Amino acid sequence: MFHAQLLSLFPEFFTSPLACSIPKRAIAAGLASVDCMQIRDFATDKHHKVDDLSYGGGPGMVMKPEPVVAAITEARRRDPGTHVVMLTPSGRQFTQKKALEYVDKGHLTLLCGRYEGFDERICDYVDEQLSLGDYVLSGGEPAAMCVLDAVIRLLPGVLGSSESAVLDSFSEEGILDWPHYTRPEEFDGKKVPAVLLSGNHGEIEKWRREQSQLRSRRRRERGS
Ligand code: SAM
Repeated sequence: MFHAQLLSLFPEFFTSPLACSIPKRAIAAGLASVDCMQIRDFATDKHHKVDDLSYGGGPGMVMKPEPVVAAITEARRRDPGTHVVMLTPSGRQFTQKKALEYVDKGHLTLLCGRYEGFDERICDYVDEQLSLGDYVLSGGEPAAMCVLDAVIRLLPGVLGSSESAVLDSFSEEGILDWPHYTRPEEFDGKKVPAVLLSGNHGEIEKWRREQSQLRSRRRRERGS
């Protein structure tokens, strides 16, 4: 079973996304398990302080090393094989390939920051730094949930054959999914491409391959 641990100051963030659709099904089927740990529980001072002012000045608070490192240590104690990932805009960008790597690892701990981010020394206690993309979120929780969702849907047995991840975008590196259509045949004057109604499976497959390649090429031309 794939096991994830989430280290966060807002563990309640994960309640709803883990309680619906595919993550819910995966957990109920015993294919994935997820534990949330409250970083604040590892602060030993009277006020359970997890952040402090930035040395050198400047606005915003920085996450203190003691409680965060204690939470990481506890995560490693509970699940000795776990791969600890810090969510940070400064990390390597998350990809479908990375999601597959995490599936293979089978044990993942996602460390979520808040405020201005982590005291730099915390980086020495994680295995990897990961970014969702070149933008800034208020906290690591939405980033961690995206990573976890992408991983869970790749776990063997999680998706039914009708939802297979094998045909998704990026299953082949850099290749996007083809356009999909459902009923009605005509909507607001826009028709479903005739080939999809032809019943000719060879032609449909050829059209889909071409459309995938076209989209992927266009995206590269846009440089995104
Ligand atoms: N001062 C930081 C900077 O400019 O890079 C931003 C800190 S952000 C407000 C607070 C936390 O959100 C980060 O510590 C990180 O855990 C998370 N976060 C924000 N953007 C992220 C991204 N693009 N990828 C992953 N985590 C992100």
